[in-house]
Amino acid sequence: MRVGVGYDSHRLVKGRKLILGGVDIPFGKGLLGHSDGDVLCHALIDAIIGALGAGDIGKYFPDTDPRWKDAASVEMLKYVVEITRACGFEIAWLDSVVIAERPRLASHVDSMKAAIAKAGVPHGSINIKAKTNEGMGFIGREEGMAAHAVCLLEKRAV
Ligand code: MG
Repeated sequence: MRVGVGYDSHRLVKGRKLILGGVDIPFGKGLLGHSDGDVLCHALIDAIIGALGAGDIGKYFPDTDPRWKDAASVEMLKYVVEITRACGFEIAWLDSVVIAERPRLASHVDSMKAAIAKAGVPHGSINIKAKTNEGMGFIGREEGMAAHAVCLLEKRAV
C-alpha cells in the first residue's frame, strides 16, 4: 500500500465559473487558473501522484502546456487515474476537505462524487468534506479557496 497527500489553493475572481470536484456551482465568482482552477480535483491529483511517488501535478500538467489551458480538471484526474492503473495500482481510498467561506458546498458533495466517479474513482472510494474557514485569512476574506486530500493506493494482485 502507498499513501499520498495533496494540497491546492486558487484565487477567487469575478467573471469565472466556479468548478469544484468537476461540478459547475452557481456563484458570483470562480477560481483563477490555467485550467478551470478546480482546487478539489487538483488536490486529489497531487495526492494520487504522491502515492505513486511520481512527482507532482506540475510535472504532468505544466501551466505552459496549451493542451490543458481552460481544461476540465476532472479530465486531468481521469488521466491520472489511468496512469495509476497502468502502474499496477488501484485507488483504495481518497479523503478530502474543501475549504470555502461561501457558497455552502455540502449540498453539492454528491454531485461532485458522481463527477469524480466518471473520472474512474469509484463512488464508494471517496469522501469529500466541506468546511468554511470561520472568516479567517484569505479563505475567510473570500480571496480564494483551498483543498486537502489523502490517497491510499493498493498494488493490484498479480
Ligand atoms: Mg491548482
